[in-house]
Amino acid sequence: MRSYSLIAPAKINLYLEIIGDRADGFHELAMVLQSISLSDRVTINPIGIDAITIRCNDPTIPSDRTNLAYRAAALMVDQFPDMMARHGGIEIDIHKQIPAAAGLAGGSTDAAAVFVGLDLMWDLGLTQGELQTFAAQIGSDVPFCISGGTALATGRGEVLSPLMNLDHLYVVLAKYKNLAISTPWAYKTYRQQFGHTYVSAPQDLQSRHDRVHSGSMVSAIVKRDGAKIGRLLHNDLEKVALPEYPQIQALRDAFAAQNVLGTMMSGSGPTVFALVANQTEADRVLGAVRGQMADPDLAFWTAQFVPNGIHLA
Ligand code: ATP
Repeated sequence: MRSYSLIAPAKINLYLEIIGDRADGFHELAMVLQSISLSDRVTINPIGIDAITIRCNDPTIPSDRTNLAYRAAALMVDQFPDMMARHGGIEIDIHKQIPAAAGLAGGSTDAAAVFVGLDLMWDLGLTQGELQTFAAQIGSDVPFCISGGTALATGRGEVLSPLMNLDHLYVVLAKYKNLAISTPWAYKTYRQQFGHTYVSAPQDLQSRHDRVHSGSMVSAIVKRDGAKIGRLLHNDLEKVALPEYPQIQALRDAFAAQNVLGTMMSGSGPTVFALVANQTEADRVLGAVRGQMADPDLAFWTAQFVPNGIHLA
């Protein structure tokens, strides 16, 4: 048995539309998801005892059964009980670079890496579709994190259609280190304030999905038109997060003043990103906004769009 070291990219949302409620209690969504080069490194090591253990360089991340990477491993042990008996246990070593609770799918991508890593370590030969079916049981973003790149995601986020690769674009990301937004809070508040706009009839749901599939964001992506993608960035959750957290609005305003292609909060936040055309522009915008905000609680990163999800390091 050998170890496998995997790169697990973060994601941002280029588009997030809340369409309605689902019978399973989740929201029906239409999203465009994008992998970026800001990544964790997840190493799967075989160990001599029958156990799943987690090690992480970030002490604020739980290393118990609540870690999404642990939950992914437990699900695989459940599905393939012979494997642990035959090969022993699993140590998962997570080198975190993606900020947690940031709207960047940091936990989901670690879980995705465990599915891919155990498929390799146990030589299961699962298809990507089979891995993604397991992944959907851990979280709505986990199937996307496996395949990555640029994709349209519908359902609760697990029904994926790959889109044209956009690896010529870059982002500047900023997050207040001490600000976390709970994803359940964001969706619950949205339901309270905008539930009356939800679509529920199956034919209406389908026509809303069709509208996104044939809509202007998808056509801008197919044309690799960064300026147009920037103008069309959309996230319904900003409607609840921006009024509640004025500092996120201020960050967004500071990026917008820098003549970027577009700026938006990612997912349920609180990370805000600015879309730019190249690394030089990303460095310029980062320097300008950092200087202007001058807040030690603000962390910044630059990243490039990447065409893949989990891959070998
Ligand atoms: P999403 O965009 O999918 O909503 P997020 O970026 O908002 O994700 P995560 O980074 O996945 O959020 O973290 C959410 C919570 O999950 C954190 O509070 C953290 O304690 C917990 N968690 C469990 N496992 C992990 C992990 N491997 N990495 C980061 N957080 C984890």
